[in-house]
Amino acid sequence: MIQVNENFLLLPESYLFSEVARRVKEFQEENPDVKIIRMGIGDVTRPLCKAAIEAMHRAVDDEADTATFHGYGPEQGYAFLRDKIADSDYKKRGIDISPDEIFIGDGAKSDLGNFFDILAQDSTVAVTDPVYPVYVDTNVMGGRGGKRHGEHHEGIIYIPLNKENKYVPQLPEQRPDVIYLCSPNNPTGTAMTHKELKKWVDYARKENSLILFDSAYEAYIHSEDVPHSIYEIEGAKEVAVEFRSFSKTAGFTGVRCGYTVVPFAVKGRDSEGNDVSLNRLWNRRQCTKFNGASYISQRAAEAVYSPEGQEQIKETIEYYMENARMMRESLTEAGYDVIGGVDSPYIWLKTPQGTTSWEFFDYLLKTHGIVGTPGSGFGEEGEGYLRLTAFNTHEATREALLRVKS
Ligand code: PLP
Repeated sequence: MIQVNENFLLLPESYLFSEVARRVKEFQEENPDVKIIRMGIGDVTRPLCKAAIEAMHRAVDDEADTATFHGYGPEQGYAFLRDKIADSDYKKRGIDISPDEIFIGDGAKSDLGNFFDILAQDSTVAVTDPVYPVYVDTNVMGGRGGKRHGEHHEGIIYIPLNKENKYVPQLPEQRPDVIYLCSPNNPTGTAMTHKELKKWVDYARKENSLILFDSAYEAYIHSEDVPHSIYEIEGAKEVAVEFRSFSKTAGFTGVRCGYTVVPFAVKGRDSEGNDVSLNRLWNRRQCTKFNGASYISQRAAEAVYSPEGQEQIKETIEYYMENARMMRESLTEAGYDVIGGVDSPYIWLKTPQGTTSWEFFDYLLKTHGIVGTPGSGFGEEGEGYLRLTAFNTHEATREALLRVKS
């Protein structure tokens, strides 16, 4: 029989969301009259903007005619989209990124998971705790995680995010080769300021580390001093790869489109000490293992940058952020300790003294019919927290807050 990749056996069963679903189902069966309000939703709920929908209809028509049909596209993405991104997301912010440094993909999750294909297998890796689980699990699959002790894998460096450090990642004592940073952060909802991110860029430059910067929630930034791109920090182009997504920006969670920026200046080393361009290796990897995001998705993503598209996505983001504002204010008024919800659609709520994440999850479900996500599912430091999301309707959010206040 074929031997399996045993690294997969080091991963725990994906327990968090299935356990949430099980407890909700059990409660609903026992209490069929309670209208449950879901505030753990990690997906957007409002439809795609009109500009993207219209662009997709036109793209479908293109595919119906020999003269405009598009088969295999460039593996790196179509120039019409790469040019728009370089101009709108970077040049307009004073950042010089060439379209050839931008790789269109089918969303940030795959690229974040695949990027290690081009890095040495035995690289050391640092993540924050709590963390978006994809960073940890993909490294465990790749053999860099090692055995699990409690919530931690012995081969991974964990950087705590907690009340003491104001949920800002602090530089680690042990030098990692690769550092995953997520800002605005899932799950804590906080975002790093220019000054805080600069500390990391300077560290990576000094230590020859690589930063994998996940800015999937960039469109939710409202604070002036929070950078929208890591390349706003001087010198970042030499040490950082940036992952972006149209999922939360423009409702593409089902349509799928995202992009990864691999600057020409970011270099790795081979075993003989020669510099190797990561852009060149990522291009090689994508050409071999990926056949490009669909023409239809890329046309939809292009339309997001039109003046109408920009206005429409802003309206939807502000809709969610109004929920976040209501949640932050009402929960604070009700005496809860909450953070986030200013530059992200996530609220990170400290459970009342002495209550675990799961105990508080059960309390909210059984007393108020509200579903959150237990923070302990995002790492050891998440114990004693609950993540709430702003992706529900205004009406349901208001109702949930009234229930909590009462
Ligand atoms: N990064 C973070 C922090 C996320 O929370 C998510 C999705 O929830 C992603 C990446 C993945 O997004 P995509 O839909 O582009 O794969």
